[in-house]
Amino acid sequence: MVRVNTNYKNLKQNYLFANIAKKLSDYTAAHPTAKIIKMGIGDVTQPLSIPVVEALVKASFEMGVKETFRGYAPDEQGYSFLKLSIADYYKNNSNVDLDEREIFVSDGAKSDVANFTDLFSNDNTIIIPDPVYPVYLDSNIMLGRKIILINGNDANGFLPLPTEGLQGDIIYLCSPNNPTGAVYTKDQLKQWVDFAIDRNAVILFDAAYEAFISDSDLPRSIYEIPDAKRCAVEFCSLSKTAGFTGTRCGYTIVPEELIVDGESLNNMWMRRQTTKFNGTAYIIQRAAEAVFSKEGLESCKTIIDYYRGNAKIMTDTMSKLSIWHTGGLNSPYVWMKCGMDSWEYFDTLLNDINIVGTPGSGFGRCGAGYFRLTAFNTRENTIEAMERFSKLFK
Ligand code: PLP
Repeated sequence: MVRVNTNYKNLKQNYLFANIAKKLSDYTAAHPTAKIIKMGIGDVTQPLSIPVVEALVKASFEMGVKETFRGYAPDEQGYSFLKLSIADYYKNNSNVDLDEREIFVSDGAKSDVANFTDLFSNDNTIIIPDPVYPVYLDSNIMLGRKIILINGNDANGFLPLPTEGLQGDIIYLCSPNNPTGAVYTKDQLKQWVDFAIDRNAVILFDAAYEAFISDSDLPRSIYEIPDAKRCAVEFCSLSKTAGFTGTRCGYTIVPEELIVDGESLNNMWMRRQTTKFNGTAYIIQRAAEAVFSKEGLESCKTIIDYYRGNAKIMTDTMSKLSIWHTGGLNSPYVWMKCGMDSWEYFDTLLNDINIVGTPGSGFGRCGAGYFRLTAFNTRENTIEAMERFSKLFK
């Protein structure tokens, strides 16, 4: 008889977005003319930039011509043209040297973050900050692993650090953080790198929002910390950097000097990917290459600046209203204190000012009493949403 992986029974049903959708549809059924402003979704709203679209079109035409048609890629881990562009990006932004063989191109950070857990034995203990992007927790629950949640709260700025007595083998860090927008400083990341090296642990560092960092002192890559290549894997994505949420492209850095339990994680990840993944589409890799061109980077910066402008309008409003908040400055997320239960706050915003956000409790127990708003809406809607906030909380 077939048996299923019973660890799946330990997953909490993800009611968060289903609940939001249900509450929203009930409200709109009762109030069909209400102008709802959605500030809950983590999806982008601005289209792909022109250099990216041009690259997509050019590559698509190449695929229709016998001489330039491409089938299976020679390397599942990505074409050299893209890996070299990514290496240049790291050199220019973070002064980090990467060898092409350390870069693995994928269809996005979510799958890589979840799949990377394949490389580790199930008797490892996993350290996960709370609140955080739910994929880390769920992908380890699926494997039945022991998980230690470390608390983010307003005392530590939602940036938990290693503490006396903390024991674990694999540490997930997300900076800038989803949902709180908090960003680790170099000193703070160094504490994690030292902790990992001391204990032969591995850091899985999610840098999906690195492009939003505007403060030049803050690290955009964990490899800005000396010795991090000995203990950390880094995941990144073009979803928020370049509007690729629907186009799908990400990349994972597995340093060659990262040796765990006598094994090279780079070799293991290569073996895993060549067995279970057949590469990211050629046309998408050409589009991703265009993101890293001079024109592409300028266009992406214009779009990110637009979202940053939204975030500033939001945080200025919160400050004026004396609402405790963090994030926004180096992140598209603004994380605010509700002064009540997160779901009660959700209902208040929906019913009183027709604004939809995300209850913080959906990202972990330490998110209870907090709320996430995103800067991904249009400028007009963001301004209007903040005017409504000002009226409600004046
Ligand atoms: N990592 C974090 C922290 C995210 O918030 C998200 C998406 O919301 C992802 C990874 C997923 O990125 P991708 O679209 O590349 O799969």
